[in-house]
Amino acid sequence: MAPTLQQIREQFPILGTTVHGKPLVYLDSAATAQKPQSVIDAESQFYATINAGVHRGAHELAARSTMAFEDARAKVARLVGANAQEGEEELVVTSGATAGLNLLATAFGNASLGRGGQAAQRFALQPGDEIVVSKAEHHSVLLPFQELAARTGATLLWFDLDEDGRIRSDMADEVISERTKIVAVTHVANVTGAITDLAPIVRRAHEVGAIMVLDACQSVPHLAVDFHALDVDFAAFSAHKMYGPTGVGFLYGKRELLEALPPANFGGSMVELAWMDQPAQYMMPPARFEAGTQPVAQVVAAGVAAEWMQGIGMDRFEQHERAIAKELLKIGDIDGVRILGPANDRDRIGTVAFEIEGVHPHDVGQFIDAQGIAIRVGHHCAQPVHRHFGVYASNRASSGIYNTVDEARAFVQAVAQVRPFFHA
Ligand code: PMP
Repeated sequence: MAPTLQQIREQFPILGTTVHGKPLVYLDSAATAQKPQSVIDAESQFYATINAGVHRGAHELAARSTMAFEDARAKVARLVGANAQEGEEELVVTSGATAGLNLLATAFGNASLGRGGQAAQRFALQPGDEIVVSKAEHHSVLLPFQELAARTGATLLWFDLDEDGRIRSDMADEVISERTKIVAVTHVANVTGAITDLAPIVRRAHEVGAIMVLDACQSVPHLAVDFHALDVDFAAFSAHKMYGPTGVGFLYGKRELLEALPPANFGGSMVELAWMDQPAQYMMPPARFEAGTQPVAQVVAAGVAAEWMQGIGMDRFEQHERAIAKELLKIGDIDGVRILGPANDRDRIGTVAFEIEGVHPHDVGQFIDAQGIAIRVGHHCAQPVHRHFGVYASNRASSGIYNTVDEARAFVQAVAQVRPFFHA
Protein backbone atom coordinates (compact mmCIF):
# COMPACT_ATOMS: atom_id res chain seq x y z
CA MET A 1 0.00 0.00 0.00
CA ALA A 2 1.19 3.49 -0.78
CA PRO A 3 2.57 5.24 2.33
CA THR A 4 0.69 8.23 3.70
CA LEU A 5 2.44 11.57 3.87
CA GLN A 6 2.77 11.06 7.63
CA GLN A 7 4.41 7.67 7.04
CA ILE A 8 6.82 9.26 4.57
CA ARG A 9 7.67 12.01 7.07
CA GLU A 10 8.34 9.46 9.79
CA GLN A 11 11.12 8.01 7.64
CA PHE A 12 13.08 11.28 7.93
CA PRO A 13 14.59 11.55 11.40
CA ILE A 14 15.70 15.15 10.85
CA LEU A 15 12.08 16.28 10.54
CA GLY A 16 11.76 15.74 14.30
CA THR A 17 14.33 18.49 14.93
CA THR A 18 13.38 21.79 16.49
CA VAL A 19 14.94 25.08 15.40
CA HIS A 20 14.77 28.16 17.63
CA GLY A 21 12.33 26.18 19.75
CA LYS A 22 10.00 25.55 16.80
CA PRO A 23 9.48 22.37 14.77
CA LEU A 24 11.70 22.45 11.70
CA VAL A 25 9.95 23.34 8.43
CA TYR A 26 12.47 22.39 5.79
CA LEU A 27 11.93 24.33 2.57
CA ASP A 28 15.46 24.14 1.16
CA SER A 29 15.36 20.85 -0.72
CA ALA A 30 16.65 22.47 -3.92
CA ALA A 31 19.94 23.01 -2.07
CA THR A 32 19.96 19.51 -0.64
CA ALA A 33 17.18 17.08 0.23
CA GLN A 34 16.88 15.37 3.61
CA LYS A 35 17.55 11.63 3.81
CA PRO A 36 15.23 8.80 4.79
CA GLN A 37 16.47 6.37 7.43
CA SER A 38 16.95 3.63 4.80
CA VAL A 39 19.50 5.79 2.98
CA ILE A 40 21.27 6.73 6.21
CA ASP A 41 21.40 3.05 7.20
CA ALA A 42 22.62 1.89 3.78
CA GLU A 43 25.95 3.70 4.18
CA SER A 44 26.70 2.36 7.65
CA GLN A 45 25.48 -1.14 6.67
CA PHE A 46 27.87 -1.10 3.75
CA TYR A 47 30.79 -0.20 6.03
CA ALA A 48 29.70 -2.74 8.64
CA THR A 49 29.27 -5.68 6.25
CA ILE A 50 30.91 -5.47 2.82
CA ASN A 51 33.34 -2.57 2.75
CA ALA A 52 36.04 -3.21 0.12
CA GLY A 53 37.38 -1.53 -2.98
CA VAL A 54 35.46 -2.34 -6.15
CA HIS A 55 36.63 -3.88 -9.42
CA ARG A 56 39.95 -5.15 -8.19
CA GLY A 57 40.52 -7.49 -5.25
CA ALA A 58 40.23 -11.19 -5.91
CA HIS A 59 38.64 -11.66 -2.50
CA GLU A 60 35.00 -12.32 -1.71
CA LEU A 61 34.33 -8.98 -0.02
CA ALA A 62 35.59 -7.10 -3.07
CA ALA A 63 33.24 -9.16 -5.22
CA ARG A 64 30.32 -8.31 -2.93
CA SER A 65 31.10 -4.61 -2.85
CA THR A 66 31.48 -4.59 -6.64
CA MET A 67 28.10 -6.24 -6.95
CA ALA A 68 26.50 -3.72 -4.57
CA PHE A 69 28.14 -0.84 -6.49
CA GLU A 70 26.94 -2.07 -9.88
CA ASP A 71 23.52 -2.92 -8.50
CA ALA A 72 23.22 0.67 -7.24
CA ARG A 73 24.21 2.01 -10.65
CA ALA A 74 21.44 -0.13 -12.15
CA LYS A 75 18.87 1.18 -9.64
CA VAL A 76 19.70 4.78 -10.44
CA ALA A 77 19.68 3.95 -14.16
CA ARG A 78 16.15 2.54 -13.82
CA LEU A 79 14.96 5.78 -12.26
CA VAL A 80 16.24 7.95 -15.12
CA GLY A 81 15.73 5.71 -18.16
CA ALA A 82 19.36 4.74 -18.77
CA ASN A 83 20.97 1.42 -19.66
CA ALA A 84 22.93 -0.44 -17.01
CA GLN A 85 23.54 -3.94 -18.43
CA GLU A 86 27.20 -4.91 -18.35
CA GLY A 87 28.91 -3.50 -21.40
CA GLU A 88 26.00 -1.13 -22.06
CA GLU A 89 26.28 1.13 -19.00
CA GLU A 90 25.23 4.71 -19.61
CA LEU A 91 25.79 6.14 -16.12
CA VAL A 92 29.21 7.28 -14.94
CA VAL A 93 29.75 7.72 -11.21
CA THR A 94 30.96 11.21 -10.32
CA SER A 95 31.24 13.18 -7.09
CA GLY A 96 28.23 15.30 -8.11
CA ALA A 97 26.67 17.22 -10.96
CA THR A 98 29.40 19.86 -10.89
CA ALA A 99 32.04 17.16 -11.30
CA GLY A 100 30.04 15.53 -14.11
CA LEU A 101 29.72 18.80 -16.04
CA ASN A 102 33.41 19.58 -15.56
CA LEU A 103 34.29 16.05 -16.65
CA LEU A 104 32.38 16.63 -19.88
CA ALA A 105 33.85 20.05 -20.57
CA THR A 106 37.37 18.73 -19.90
CA ALA A 107 36.79 15.69 -22.14
CA PHE A 108 35.51 17.95 -24.94
CA GLY A 109 38.61 20.10 -24.42
CA ASN A 110 40.81 17.01 -24.66
CA ALA A 111 39.05 16.00 -27.88
CA SER A 112 39.76 19.51 -29.18
CA LEU A 113 43.48 18.84 -28.59
CA GLY A 114 43.21 15.73 -30.78
CA ARG A 115 43.01 13.28 -27.89
CA GLY A 116 40.79 10.22 -28.30
CA GLY A 117 41.53 9.77 -31.98
CA GLN A 118 39.12 10.01 -34.88
CA ALA A 119 36.08 8.90 -32.88
CA ALA A 120 36.46 11.83 -30.48
CA GLN A 121 36.56 14.43 -33.26
CA ARG A 122 32.78 14.81 -33.05
CA PHE A 123 33.40 16.57 -29.69
CA ALA A 124 36.26 18.78 -30.91
CA LEU A 125 35.90 22.56 -30.92
CA GLN A 126 37.80 25.23 -32.77
CA PRO A 127 37.52 28.99 -33.31
CA GLY A 128 34.27 29.77 -35.13
CA ASP A 129 32.39 26.94 -33.39
CA GLU A 130 29.67 27.86 -30.93
CA ILE A 131 28.56 26.60 -27.53
CA VAL A 132 25.02 27.50 -26.48
CA VAL A 133 23.87 27.76 -22.85
CA SER A 134 21.09 29.83 -21.25
CA LYS A 135 20.91 32.77 -18.87
CA ALA A 136 19.07 30.52 -16.40
CA GLU A 137 22.06 28.24 -15.87
CA HIS A 138 23.59 27.37 -12.55
CA HIS A 139 27.25 28.39 -12.51
CA SER A 140 28.16 24.71 -12.71
CA VAL A 141 26.92 24.71 -16.32
CA LEU A 142 27.86 28.26 -17.28
CA LEU A 143 31.45 28.27 -16.03
CA PRO A 144 32.78 24.92 -17.32
CA PHE A 145 31.43 25.69 -20.79
CA GLN A 146 32.59 29.31 -20.67
CA GLU A 147 36.07 28.01 -19.81
CA LEU A 148 35.86 25.43 -22.59
CA ALA A 149 35.02 28.20 -25.05
CA ALA A 150 37.98 30.26 -23.79
CA ARG A 151 40.34 27.28 -24.12
CA THR A 152 39.27 26.30 -27.63
CA GLY A 153 38.50 29.70 -29.16
CA ALA A 154 34.83 28.75 -29.55
CA THR A 155 32.15 31.38 -28.94
CA LEU A 156 29.67 31.17 -26.08
CA LEU A 157 26.09 32.11 -26.96
CA TRP A 158 22.98 31.86 -24.81
CA PHE A 159 19.24 31.62 -24.76
CA ASP A 160 17.60 34.68 -23.29
CA LEU A 161 14.75 34.39 -20.78
CA ASP A 162 11.19 35.66 -20.92
CA GLU A 163 9.74 37.89 -18.20
CA ASP A 164 8.91 34.83 -16.07
CA GLY A 165 12.54 33.74 -16.36
CA ARG A 166 11.70 30.85 -18.71
CA ILE A 167 14.28 29.84 -21.31
CA ARG A 168 13.14 31.23 -24.68
CA SER A 169 13.08 27.83 -26.39
CA ASP A 170 10.94 29.39 -29.13
CA MET A 171 14.19 30.99 -30.26
CA ALA A 172 15.97 27.64 -30.77
CA ASP A 173 16.17 28.06 -34.54
CA GLU A 174 17.88 31.44 -34.16
CA VAL A 175 20.24 30.69 -31.27
CA ILE A 176 21.35 27.24 -32.48
CA SER A 177 22.97 27.20 -35.92
CA GLU A 178 25.20 25.06 -38.12
CA ARG A 179 28.13 26.50 -36.10
CA THR A 180 26.76 25.10 -32.82
CA LYS A 181 28.72 22.13 -31.48
CA ILE A 182 27.35 21.92 -27.93
CA VAL A 183 24.07 22.96 -26.33
CA ALA A 184 23.94 22.82 -22.52
CA VAL A 185 20.79 23.85 -20.67
CA THR A 186 18.97 23.09 -17.49
CA HIS A 187 15.93 20.83 -17.37
CA VAL A 188 14.47 22.69 -14.37
CA ALA A 189 15.94 26.03 -13.27
CA ASN A 190 17.15 26.16 -9.69
CA VAL A 191 16.02 29.78 -9.14
CA THR A 192 12.73 30.08 -11.03
CA GLY A 193 11.63 26.45 -10.71
CA ALA A 194 10.58 26.61 -14.38
CA ILE A 195 10.59 23.40 -16.40
CA THR A 196 12.35 24.00 -19.71
CA ASP A 197 10.42 23.32 -22.88
CA LEU A 198 13.19 21.01 -24.07
CA ALA A 199 11.74 19.46 -27.20
CA PRO A 200 12.42 22.38 -29.59
CA ILE A 201 15.95 22.76 -28.21
CA VAL A 202 16.81 19.05 -28.49
CA ARG A 203 15.29 18.83 -31.97
CA ARG A 204 17.24 21.83 -33.24
CA ALA A 205 20.50 20.74 -31.56
CA HIS A 206 20.30 17.36 -33.27
CA GLU A 207 19.23 18.89 -36.58
CA VAL A 208 22.57 20.74 -36.69
CA GLY A 209 24.56 17.78 -35.28
CA ALA A 210 25.28 19.43 -31.91
CA ILE A 211 25.80 17.52 -28.65
CA MET A 212 22.89 18.09 -26.26
CA VAL A 213 23.87 18.32 -22.58
CA LEU A 214 21.23 18.51 -19.86
CA ASP A 215 21.57 19.72 -16.29
CA ALA A 216 19.08 17.37 -14.62
CA CYS A 217 19.92 18.34 -11.02
CA GLN A 218 16.52 19.86 -10.32
CA SER A 219 14.40 17.55 -12.47
CA VAL A 220 15.43 14.06 -11.32
CA PRO A 221 14.31 14.73 -7.69
CA HIS A 222 10.89 16.04 -8.70
CA LEU A 223 9.73 14.68 -12.07
CA ALA A 224 9.53 11.38 -13.91
CA VAL A 225 12.66 11.72 -16.04
CA ASP A 226 13.61 9.40 -18.90
CA PHE A 227 16.82 10.41 -20.66
CA HIS A 228 16.13 8.07 -23.59
CA ALA A 229 12.70 9.61 -24.14
CA LEU A 230 14.15 13.14 -23.84
CA ASP A 231 16.81 12.10 -26.37
CA VAL A 232 19.55 14.16 -24.69
CA ASP A 233 23.16 13.09 -25.28
CA PHE A 234 24.53 13.75 -21.80
CA ALA A 235 22.95 14.66 -18.46
CA ALA A 236 24.34 15.39 -15.01
CA PHE A 237 22.66 15.12 -11.61
CA SER A 238 23.54 14.82 -7.91
CA ALA A 239 22.43 12.16 -5.45
CA HIS A 240 22.15 14.56 -2.49
CA LYS A 241 19.24 16.41 -4.09
CA MET A 242 17.39 13.12 -4.63
CA TYR A 243 17.30 12.00 -0.99
CA GLY A 244 20.70 10.32 -1.33
CA PRO A 245 24.10 11.04 0.18
CA THR A 246 26.45 13.93 -0.51
CA GLY A 247 29.65 13.40 -2.46
CA VAL A 248 28.17 11.39 -5.31
CA GLY A 249 26.42 12.07 -8.58
CA PHE A 250 26.00 10.60 -12.03
CA LEU A 251 26.78 11.59 -15.58
CA TYR A 252 24.49 10.01 -18.14
CA GLY A 253 25.78 9.59 -21.69
CA LYS A 254 24.38 7.74 -24.70
CA ARG A 255 26.47 4.61 -24.88
CA GLU A 256 27.98 5.25 -28.32
CA LEU A 257 28.97 8.77 -27.23
CA LEU A 258 30.55 7.59 -23.98
CA GLU A 259 32.54 5.07 -26.03
CA ALA A 260 33.82 7.85 -28.29
CA LEU A 261 34.55 10.35 -25.48
CA PRO A 262 38.19 10.66 -24.33
CA PRO A 263 38.86 10.49 -20.59
CA ALA A 264 39.08 13.60 -18.44
CA ASN A 265 40.59 12.26 -15.22
CA PHE A 266 43.54 9.91 -15.12
CA GLY A 267 44.73 7.40 -12.57
CA GLY A 268 43.95 3.99 -11.21
CA SER A 269 41.17 1.67 -12.38
CA MET A 270 40.59 3.35 -15.74
CA VAL A 271 43.36 1.83 -17.81
CA GLU A 272 43.86 -1.54 -19.57
CA LEU A 273 47.57 -1.09 -20.25
CA ALA A 274 50.01 1.55 -19.05
CA TRP A 275 53.62 1.90 -20.22
CA MET A 276 56.51 4.23 -19.55
CA ASP A 277 57.13 4.97 -23.22
CA GLN A 278 53.78 4.43 -24.95
CA PRO A 279 50.33 5.96 -24.56
CA ALA A 280 48.03 4.09 -22.22
CA GLN A 281 45.06 2.09 -23.45
CA TYR A 282 41.97 3.17 -21.58
CA MET A 283 39.13 0.97 -20.45
CA MET A 284 35.64 1.06 -21.90
CA PRO A 285 33.03 3.28 -20.20
CA PRO A 286 32.05 3.70 -17.48
CA ALA A 287 35.44 2.66 -15.98
CA ARG A 288 37.29 5.02 -18.36
CA PHE A 289 35.70 7.95 -16.53
CA GLU A 290 35.93 6.59 -13.00
CA ALA A 291 39.59 7.08 -12.14
CA GLY A 292 40.57 6.43 -8.54
CA THR A 293 38.83 4.85 -5.58
CA GLN A 294 35.10 5.35 -5.85
CA PRO A 295 32.70 6.53 -3.11
CA VAL A 296 31.25 3.04 -2.92
CA ALA A 297 29.20 3.40 0.28
CA GLN A 298 27.63 6.60 -1.06
CA VAL A 299 26.84 5.05 -4.44
CA VAL A 300 25.19 2.10 -2.70
CA ALA A 301 23.10 4.52 -0.61
CA ALA A 302 22.24 6.53 -3.75
CA GLY A 303 20.88 3.28 -5.21
CA VAL A 304 18.71 2.85 -2.12
CA ALA A 305 17.46 6.44 -2.55
CA ALA A 306 16.61 5.86 -6.22
CA GLU A 307 14.75 2.66 -5.39
CA TRP A 308 12.93 4.44 -2.56
CA MET A 309 11.81 7.19 -4.95
CA GLN A 310 10.59 4.65 -7.48
CA GLY A 311 8.74 2.82 -4.73
CA ILE A 312 6.80 5.98 -3.94
CA GLY A 313 6.38 6.70 -7.63
CA MET A 314 7.49 9.80 -9.49
CA ASP A 315 3.90 10.61 -10.42
CA ARG A 316 3.20 11.04 -6.73
CA PHE A 317 6.25 13.29 -6.34
CA GLU A 318 4.96 15.47 -9.17
CA GLN A 319 1.41 15.62 -7.85
CA HIS A 320 2.35 16.24 -4.25
CA GLU A 321 4.86 18.93 -5.03
CA ARG A 322 2.43 20.67 -7.39
CA ALA A 323 0.02 20.97 -4.46
CA ILE A 324 2.81 22.41 -2.29
CA ALA A 325 3.87 24.78 -5.09
CA LYS A 326 0.31 26.06 -5.33
CA GLU A 327 0.42 27.02 -1.64
CA LEU A 328 3.92 28.50 -1.74
CA LEU A 329 2.98 30.65 -4.72
CA LYS A 330 0.34 32.41 -2.62
CA ILE A 331 3.12 34.71 -1.41
CA GLY A 332 2.57 36.42 -4.77
CA ASP A 333 -0.66 37.89 -3.36
CA ILE A 334 1.18 39.63 -0.50
CA ASP A 335 1.83 43.34 -0.92
CA GLY A 336 5.45 44.05 -1.91
CA VAL A 337 6.33 40.42 -2.69
CA ARG A 338 7.60 39.66 -6.18
CA ILE A 339 8.06 36.09 -7.38
CA LEU A 340 11.17 35.62 -9.52
CA GLY A 341 9.80 33.01 -11.89
CA PRO A 342 6.41 31.80 -13.11
CA ALA A 343 3.74 32.93 -10.66
CA ASN A 344 1.34 30.09 -11.52
CA ASP A 345 1.87 26.38 -10.96
CA ARG A 346 2.05 25.43 -14.66
CA ASP A 347 5.25 23.78 -15.94
CA ARG A 348 7.18 24.45 -12.77
CA ILE A 349 8.20 22.69 -9.60
CA GLY A 350 7.81 23.84 -6.00
CA THR A 351 10.93 26.00 -6.04
CA VAL A 352 9.88 29.60 -5.53
CA ALA A 353 12.36 32.49 -5.47
CA PHE A 354 11.16 35.91 -4.40
CA GLU A 355 12.13 39.36 -3.24
CA ILE A 356 10.37 41.58 -0.75
CA GLU A 357 10.33 45.27 -1.51
CA GLY A 358 12.33 47.30 0.97
CA VAL A 359 13.76 44.35 2.94
CA HIS A 360 17.20 42.85 2.34
CA PRO A 361 17.06 39.13 1.43
CA HIS A 362 19.30 38.30 4.40
CA ASP A 363 16.91 40.01 6.78
CA VAL A 364 14.04 38.10 5.18
CA GLY A 365 15.94 34.83 5.60
CA GLN A 366 16.71 35.52 9.24
CA PHE A 367 13.15 36.52 10.03
CA ILE A 368 11.79 33.35 8.42
CA ASP A 369 14.47 31.19 10.08
CA ALA A 370 13.39 32.56 13.47
CA GLN A 371 10.03 30.82 12.83
CA GLY A 372 11.85 27.50 12.34
CA ILE A 373 11.46 27.67 8.55
CA ALA A 374 14.57 26.94 6.48
CA ILE A 375 14.76 28.75 3.14
CA ARG A 376 17.73 29.85 1.08
CA VAL A 377 19.22 33.31 0.68
CA GLY A 378 21.68 34.60 -1.92
CA HIS A 379 22.14 34.24 -5.65
CA HIS A 380 21.85 30.44 -5.54
CA CYS A 381 24.94 30.09 -7.79
CA ALA A 382 23.02 31.66 -10.66
CA GLN A 383 23.95 35.33 -10.96
CA PRO A 384 22.88 35.97 -14.59
CA VAL A 385 19.26 35.02 -13.88
CA HIS A 386 19.22 37.41 -10.91
CA ARG A 387 20.60 40.14 -13.15
CA HIS A 388 17.79 39.31 -15.58
CA PHE A 389 15.32 40.15 -12.81
CA GLY A 390 17.30 43.26 -11.83
CA VAL A 391 18.30 42.00 -8.38
CA TYR A 392 21.55 40.78 -6.86
CA ALA A 393 20.10 38.19 -4.51
CA SER A 394 16.80 36.61 -3.52
CA ASN A 395 15.13 34.25 -1.10
CA ARG A 396 14.08 30.80 -2.24
CA ALA A 397 11.68 28.27 -0.76
CA SER A 398 11.82 24.80 -2.29
CA SER A 399 9.73 21.73 -1.63
CA GLY A 400 10.37 18.03 -1.20
CA ILE A 401 8.14 14.98 -0.93
CA TYR A 402 7.95 15.41 2.87
CA ASN A 403 6.48 18.93 2.98
CA THR A 404 2.90 19.42 4.08
CA VAL A 405 0.35 21.98 2.95
CA ASP A 406 0.33 23.27 6.55
CA GLU A 407 4.07 23.90 6.36
CA ALA A 408 3.61 25.80 3.10
CA ARG A 409 0.88 27.87 4.76
CA ALA A 410 3.12 28.61 7.74
CA PHE A 411 5.73 29.86 5.27
CA VAL A 412 3.22 32.12 3.51
CA GLN A 413 2.11 33.53 6.87
CA ALA A 414 5.72 34.19 7.85
CA VAL A 415 6.37 36.01 4.56
CA ALA A 416 3.26 38.13 5.16
CA GLN A 417 4.74 39.32 8.46
CA VAL A 418 8.09 40.44 7.00
CA ARG A 419 7.23 43.94 5.76
CA PRO A 420 5.16 44.91 8.82
CA PHE A 421 8.03 43.70 11.05
CA PHE A 422 10.64 45.77 9.21
CA HIS A 423 8.23 48.69 8.69
CA ALA A 424 8.97 48.43 4.98
N1 PMP B 1 22.66 22.57 -11.42
C1 PMP B 1 21.60 22.94 -10.71
C2 PMP B 1 20.35 23.37 -11.43
C3 PMP B 1 21.67 22.92 -9.31
O1 PMP B 1 20.60 23.30 -8.60
C4 PMP B 1 22.87 22.51 -8.68
C5 PMP B 1 22.98 22.47 -7.18
N2 PMP B 1 22.63 23.67 -6.54
C6 PMP B 1 23.93 22.12 -9.48
C7 PMP B 1 23.79 22.15 -10.84
C8 PMP B 1 25.22 21.66 -8.89
O2 PMP B 1 25.05 20.50 -8.14
P1 PMP B 1 26.18 20.04 -7.10
O3 PMP B 1 26.49 21.23 -6.26
O4 PMP B 1 25.51 18.95 -6.34
O5 PMP B 1 27.34 19.56 -7.89
